[in-house]
Amino acid sequence: MTDKAQQNQLIELLKNARNVFIFTGAGVSKESGLPTFRDLDGEWTKYDPMTFATLDGFLSNPVMVWNMYRERLMQISAAQPNPAHIVIAQMEHYYPEFLLTTQNVDNLHERAGNKKMVKIHGDACRIRCVDCEETYPVSDYDFSEEFDEPKLPKCPDCGGLCRPDIVWFGEYVPQEAFAASINAAMTCDLMMIVGTSGEVSGGYGFAERALSHGAKIVEINPSEGALTHYAHFWIPQQAGVALPQIWKLVVGDA
Ligand SMILES: [Zn+2]
Repeated sequence: MTDKAQQNQLIELLKNARNVFIFTGAGVSKESGLPTFRDLDGEWTKYDPMTFATLDGFLSNPVMVWNMYRERLMQISAAQPNPAHIVIAQMEHYYPEFLLTTQNVDNLHERAGNKKMVKIHGDACRIRCVDCEETYPVSDYDFSEEFDEPKLPKCPDCGGLCRPDIVWFGEYVPQEAFAASINAAMTCDLMMIVGTSGEVSGGYGFAERALSHGAKIVEINPSEGALTHYAHFWIPQQAGVALPQIWKLVVGDA
């Protein structure tokens, strides 16, 4: 940030906010070393999304798809929350009203300590029965070895094949997570857009809704995205760098 007066305004805004809605995306995970799926250098240049991120692709080759997600799960468990995750968890304790909506399917926000959160693109650390829709934590299953046909994860209830509990192409986002996010957007006095271009589904209209009732919008994102023009403050930096600096000024050194 270059302008001192603008920085002071931003700090005042964060100090005075009461109801905060944070919307995060792949940029936050990327700073922990997890590859993004949609960047130009992302995973979809290696993996065809029609095979690895659709129900049809999964059903035609569940062993191959599960082995790809198994690798992804190992990357997630080896990754650590970065300073952006840690500040966002502190913000949850600081503000009386708070919701974090993340598009990330890893568990780094939870591991940093966030509880008031929803995962709008699903959860890579859960699996879901294709037949009865029941979900289970991946920790219930053995991921120590590569999958083959007999070892594919099955539903303990109905015996159906299980899939990663994430939102694939052509699928709807989880209804409860979406409704909670809309409610937060409609009631917040501050919305923060962190590490997301907001290009998936136009950012779901959250920023427009926040603006429509007078909320202020802060974006932390190294490059300009689809929602940047809504932001009252845009900090063109990595969240893991910018958030700790800003937060220190909000809460003081204590
Ligand atoms: Zn089932």
